[in-house]
Amino acid sequence: MAKEKARNKKGSGGKGRSSGRRVIEVPETITVRELAKRMETSPIQLIKELMRNGIMANINQTLDYDSAAIVAEDLGFELRMEGLPIFEVEEEEVPPARLRRPFFREEDLAHLVPRPPVVTVMGHVDHGKTSLLDVIRKTNVVAGEAGGITQRIGAYQVEKQGRKITFIDTPGHEAFTAMRARGAQVTDIAVLVVATDDGVMPQTLEAIDHARAAQVPIISALNKIDKPTAHPERARKQLSEIGLTPDDWGGDTICVDVSAKTQVGIEDLLDAILLVAEDAALTANPDRPAAGTVIEGQLDRTRGPMATVLVQAGTLHLGDDMLINDIHGRVRAMFDENGNRLQEAVPSTPVAILGLSGVPQAGDIFEVVEDEKTAKTLAAQRAEGKRLAALRPTRVLSLDEVYAQMQAGQVKELNLILKAEVQGALEPIRTSLERLGDENLRVKIIRQDTGGITESDIMLAVASKAIVIGFNVRQDPAARLMAGAEGVDVRCYDVIYQLLDDIEKALKGLLEPRYEEVVMGQAEVRAIFDIPRKRQVAGLYVQEGKVTRDALARVLRDGQKVYDGRVSSLKRYTEDVKEVAADFECGLGLENFGDYQEGDIIEFYKQERVG
Ligand code: GDP
Repeated sequence: MAKEKARNKKGSGGKGRSSGRRVIEVPETITVRELAKRMETSPIQLIKELMRNGIMANINQTLDYDSAAIVAEDLGFELRMEGLPIFEVEEEEVPPARLRRPFFREEDLAHLVPRPPVVTVMGHVDHGKTSLLDVIRKTNVVAGEAGGITQRIGAYQVEKQGRKITFIDTPGHEAFTAMRARGAQVTDIAVLVVATDDGVMPQTLEAIDHARAAQVPIISALNKIDKPTAHPERARKQLSEIGLTPDDWGGDTICVDVSAKTQVGIEDLLDAILLVAEDAALTANPDRPAAGTVIEGQLDRTRGPMATVLVQAGTLHLGDDMLINDIHGRVRAMFDENGNRLQEAVPSTPVAILGLSGVPQAGDIFEVVEDEKTAKTLAAQRAEGKRLAALRPTRVLSLDEVYAQMQAGQVKELNLILKAEVQGALEPIRTSLERLGDENLRVKIIRQDTGGITESDIMLAVASKAIVIGFNVRQDPAARLMAGAEGVDVRCYDVIYQLLDDIEKALKGLLEPRYEEVVMGQAEVRAIFDIPRKRQVAGLYVQEGKVTRDALARVLRDGQKVYDGRVSSLKRYTEDVKEVAADFECGLGLENFGDYQEGDIIEFYKQERVG
């Protein structure tokens, strides 16, 4: 809250004073160097403060606004977002443009009204997810609609007992988790489809992990009961074994027998959804500018960018100005899945909208803002932020950072995904791992399974800020690529002791950071100079990449390493330089080495922290 206040204080632009603290303006993202400059403090001081808050950054690193605000506050400043319009609001109020997920504001409390549940259908392939979504949509179209041309827009609403239910029309946990990984949380209830002729299968288990990680209640739909080979009781037993004991077996997971083919049990399933929704007491404030999540985006050849958005707070009106990341727009037209044109959309309504400047992605957050100018200005700022963000690798959470983040109160649970070669290894490792936690940090295994590390594991890790631990298993190449791109920390062990030791050290802040070598450039020795009373210096021609003064260097002679150490001097002609690019010549001195030969290849590298 303090942060929000800092951001929205009605102050003068630039430097000012407010509640005794200096107010400074910063953009959405800012480098450590620039922030230090604006605070008129030394970058070192700032880096120390960042570390104290669990943020490891160097001077050139870009910080997001939130990180900047945290340290700035600690150093006695108040931050204001540069270019943010000054709203005529009470200090405590958060202007719509700065809404935080899940779109809840204190002042909404007085205006909350019930809203329909948003349901995602998950389960194993071919168990009938798509078929179920289709029959539900056909049999329970919202009453009173002309039934125009229906069109898949990625979500739809049905009506039951005069109450609405919103279904996300893309089945499966992949889409669900992809959205969650982007920070979106749209689903209130997961319907887990299990074909009773097949039973619980690998993707059923995955779906359960994903729903549980998102803390979404699960309803089991036992499908295909029309089939002679259907075995609903077996499915109930299997579900009980994995912690989803059906209500009719004395458990607390509602379990409904259905057939998408003969349409048996569909109404019961809808009743069950309404029951769970009632329990969850889902509400939203319709009396405020709208905010929500993009369900899908596409480019319509005749109508331009089109997006289906799920309104999650407030009411979206025709003509509203909105912002979706760096895309802005004004709602020119709005329609539902039946092709009906709408004037407004209340919470939990999915609507297709036209009038955007670009095509957003599923999982993007939309916010209605004051006016077109605000939308455009903020969109431009975000585009710049995005460009900067693309330049730096993101990290979900690494084991090395766990301690710092724990100290800063940013993590209270260490989520782990545990994969092992054999079933027998899982339980003992799990028990030992869970014992490592204490009152400050709980170790939570959000998935444990046998087999190699897959993309699905990485996706779950991204969505749940988890670390993936492999015991005697490898990650498949696709998972490796994805983990690299998403910044997921994957650690493989073949000795249990080492595995436990690493996690324990991480929890105590004793883990040594891991480094990986990054080759920066290569050069060839073309001449050798004897310097009186000093070691030899080599004349180099830089063949590839670059050579820098702070690099490590390795001398290779006929492919054999003859030296590995630090650069002690780097010169162009007589001048000391910091770096020399490819196709240039330079003079090089190495620490404790003076035995060059012409034709030696010198490889320059850095140790980059990867953990
Ligand atoms: P999804 O991959 O989970 O979306 O599964 P689909 O909805 O595509 O269904 C897979 C297959 O099962 C299709 O051939 C459907 O016709 C069939 N199917 C789905 N539900 C039922 C059902 O209740 N009974 C029978 N007999 N077949 C079904």
